[in-house]
Amino acid sequence: MSFKETINVNTMLGYFEGEIPVNYQYTLGVGGNKFFTALMEKGEFIASECTACGVKTIYPLIYCEECFAPIEKYISLGVEGELYSFTECHYDYQGNKYDKPHVLGLVRFPGVRGGIFHRIAGNMDSLRIGMKVVAKLKPKAERSGTIDDIICFETA
Ligand SMILES: [Zn+2]
Repeated sequence: MSFKETINVNTMLGYFEGEIPVNYQYTLGVGGNKFFTALMEKGEFIASECTACGVKTIYPLIYCEECFAPIEKYISLGVEGELYSFTECHYDYQGNKYDKPHVLGLVRFPGVRGGIFHRIAGNMDSLRIGMKVVAKLKPKAERSGTIDDIICFETA
C-alpha cells in the first residue's frame, strides 16, 4: 500500500508501538515576544494595530490577517478587559482531580480581535459574561516573560 492509497475500511489501519524522540523549541515569534516583553517590563497587554485597515489584534501580529499589511503599530490595552466566556474545570491536564474547581475564561478587549485565556478568580455564581475583569500580575521582580506572569483575572 502506498501513501497515495485511501483507506476506506478502518480495520485496515495499523499502528506501531514505540517512541519517537522529538526535540523542539517553541518560540513566541516576533509578535509574541513583543507581548510578553511588554507584560514583563511594563505590566500591560499590547495589541497590534494595522495602520492600513485599522484591525487590532491580541496577541499582537507582525502582519495583518485582514489585509496582509505589515504591522508597525502596537498599542497598550492596559490590564482590564471583559469576561467573554468562562467555565469550571475539575481536572488538570494530566487528569488529576483538583481539590476545588478552577474557573478558566476568555478575556477580550473592546474593539480588539482575539483575547487571553486564563484563570479567573471567583466561582461560577459570582461571574457574569461581559463583566469587567482586571489582570492580577506577579510583582515586576518576579515576572519572567511568560503567561504565568498573569496570576489570574479578577473582577474589577
Ligand atoms: Zn489590515
